[in-house]
Amino acid sequence: MKAAVLNNNKFEITQIPKPMLDEYEDGAIIKVIGCGLCGSDIVKMRTGVAKNGTVLGHEVVGEITEIKSNTEFKSGDIVALGHHVPCFNCHYCKGGNYSMCRHFKSTNIHPGGFAEYIYVTEEHLQNTIFHVNSNLSNIEASFLEPLACCVRAVKRADIKDNSNCLVIGLGSVGILMGEAIKAFGHKVYGCDLLPERICTAEKFGFNKTFLSNDEDKVLEEFKTVAPIGFDTIFLTAGASSTIDFAVKAARDGATIVIFSSVKDDKGFKNNDIYYRELKIMGSYSPSPMDLDDSMKLLEERRVKVAGISTIYPIEKLNDALHDTISNKIMKAYIQL
Ligand SMILES: [Zn+2]
Ligand SMILES: [Zn+2]
Repeated sequence: MKAAVLNNNKFEITQIPKPMLDEYEDGAIIKVIGCGLCGSDIVKMRTGVAKNGTVLGHEVVGEITEIKSNTEFKSGDIVALGHHVPCFNCHYCKGGNYSMCRHFKSTNIHPGGFAEYIYVTEEHLQNTIFHVNSNLSNIEASFLEPLACCVRAVKRADIKDNSNCLVIGLGSVGILMGEAIKAFGHKVYGCDLLPERICTAEKFGFNKTFLSNDEDKVLEEFKTVAPIGFDTIFLTAGASSTIDFAVKAARDGATIVIFSSVKDDKGFKNNDIYYRELKIMGSYSPSPMDLDDSMKLLEERRVKVAGISTIYPIEKLNDALHDTISNKIMKAYIQL
């Protein structure tokens, strides 16, 4: 079957063996229809976490073609999925930290979403695979997992009523985060360095967006909507320069949610956190419950994702990668 295999920081479209259901006791084979290119795929490539030979891609929408399962799924079902499954039993899971569960980290789809077919386990079918409602397009359904990551962040942030939230970084993830915050009933503001992103974000659910290329100016502008600073801040930009900026934009006692890695791994200052009682926290990958919430938000159209993605055939995956990195597009949806 056709797959995009990682080779020295590029994708190589090549033939690899198709996963065979006969080789497994249970599970299913899914014919991939499309798969979103995630920022984390790019980070895994750039940092060398993903080795040569890896097939990346996890934001999959596809059709079940073969199945051996106790679930109600059957051949022909169109599904979207999450790729990691927690054990629900370990200390992490019992503490609600499902994405820290070692079983969660060890589970995955095989080989990856940038391939014609993937194998998923019975555990996936039971916990992290969802029927795609006919009112959703395949591209919309491919947002199940990335939106679930945002849903998890919003839930973990424990936002109080009448809060002001700020999303720093309005790429596709920032937009999704804004949509999720809004869907949970909170006011959300956004800022970014790029004017074109401000324009796009304005079309989505944000109450107001700000161009942040002049820090002093934008901190002054923030006061018009959050006079004492923002209650909750989400960092989606993946740049360590946003750390100091976030601390300045936060009110005393605010929560700052870290939602992306940064290259140089800089930190928050001890005394800012102590004297200002800041709560700095991370939110990573979604639990099955977050996926379920995400699917409901998509189906009920409480979050809109239409217009975020640009479609590329798998043969053009390297172009999709390049266009994402250079901010030419917001997000790529790879069609198989
Ligand atoms: Zn993702
Ligand atoms: Zn566990």
